[in-house]
Amino acid sequence: MDIRSLAIHGGITGDPYTGAVTVPIYQTSTYAQESVGKHRGFEYSRTGNPTREALEKLIADLEEGYRGFAFSSGMSAISSVLMLLKSGDHILVSDDVYGGTFRVIDKVFKNFNLEYDFIDTSNIDKVRNGIKANTKMIYIETPTNPLMKLTHIRSIVELAKEKEILTVVDNTFATPYLQRPITQGADIVLHSATKYLGGHSDLVAGLVVVNNKELGDRMHFIQNSVGAILGPFDSWLLIKGIKTLPVRMDRHCENAEQIVNWLSNQSWVKKIYYPGCNGSQEIFKSQMSRAGGMISFEVDSEATVEKVLSNLKIITLAESLGGIESLISVPAQMTHASIPEEKREKLGITNRLIRLSVGIEYVEDIIKDLDISLK
Ligand SMILES: *Cc1c(COP(=O)(O)O)cnc(C)c1O
Repeated sequence: MDIRSLAIHGGITGDPYTGAVTVPIYQTSTYAQESVGKHRGFEYSRTGNPTREALEKLIADLEEGYRGFAFSSGMSAISSVLMLLKSGDHILVSDDVYGGTFRVIDKVFKNFNLEYDFIDTSNIDKVRNGIKANTKMIYIETPTNPLMKLTHIRSIVELAKEKEILTVVDNTFATPYLQRPITQGADIVLHSATKYLGGHSDLVAGLVVVNNKELGDRMHFIQNSVGAILGPFDSWLLIKGIKTLPVRMDRHCENAEQIVNWLSNQSWVKKIYYPGCNGSQEIFKSQMSRAGGMISFEVDSEATVEKVLSNLKIITLAESLGGIESLISVPAQMTHASIPEEKREKLGITNRLIRLSVGIEYVEDIIKDLDISLK
C-alpha cells in the first residue's frame, strides 16, 4: 500500500465490537481477567492499551519497522532509547541536534557515566575516527535542527554494522512521508510526534520504531519499566493527526519551496538553509523524497531580526514546529539557548539566524506577512 493510503488504513483501524470507523479511546487503567493470568492481551495500561497499540502499529507500518512505541513526549522517547545503553558505554551524536537532546545527554545521562561525543555526522570520516572501543550507538538527526545539515544514513549504517553499533535516527523533521531510515538500514527511528505527526500544535508526544524483535522486546521492557507512556486520549489525537500527514506534508513542502525562492531574492537575507541546498544535493536525492517545511535563514543584522519578528500578523513567534500554522523563532535565544554561546556561534547558530516552520496557509499570505513586516 502506498504511504498515502497507509496513513489512513495502517495499524489497527475501527472497532470490531461496534463497527465504529475510528479506534475508540480506551480510557481505562486496567482490564478484567477471566481467571488469574487469563486475559485478552491487556492487563494494565502502562504495559499496553488498545488505543496506544493502534498508534504504535500505525507508526511501525509507516516507518516500515518491526514494532512501534508511543511515549509522553519526544524527550521521553529519546531518553527511553538512551536507556538501551549502560554506564561506561559511548555514544556519538550529531553536533547540531535538538537542544533538549544535547541537554539530556550532557546534563542527565552524564551523571550515569554515559560517555559521549558531539561530532559533525555529515562528515563520515569524522564519524569513523570518532568510534571508540566502547561506542554502542550513533545517534543522528537528518536534516538537523536548525541548520538542515544532512547525514548520509546508509554510510553511517555501514560503519555501525561492522562494529555492532546501533544506528538511531531522529526523523522528526522529515517524517516517514519524506524519509524512512529503517529502509536504509537504521536500527531505530524516533520522533517528536509533537511536530509534523500530530501536526496541529495540540499535543506533546514521542514515537519510537525498532527494526527487529530483540530490540522490540528490550524497548518494551524499558517502556513498561520506566513508564513514560502516551495516554489514550493523546494516542487517539495523534492517530487523527497522522491520517492527514501526507496531504499536510505536500502543502508544507510546496509552500516552503516557494518561500525559499522568494527569500533567495531578498537583499536582507544572507544565507538560506534548506535540505538539498548548501551542497548536499546528492545525499538529499538518495534518501529524501522532498525537502520538508522547515527553513532557516540568516539575515544581515540583529536589527532586521527584530523588525521581522515584531510586525508579523499571520506567522506566530513561538517555539516548536510542524503544525498547520506558520511559526517563527530565533533558535539561539529560544530552542537552542541551552547550548553555550561560544559553541552556538561555532556551529553557525548566530543571533541573526531565523527559523521558519512553514504552515499550510495560502503561501502568498505568508510571504506578504514577511514582506510587509520588513517594510
Ligand atoms: C521537539 C523535538 C524533540 C523533543 O520533542 P518533545 O516532543 O518536545 O519532547 C526532539 N527532536 C527534535 C528534532 C525536535 O524538534
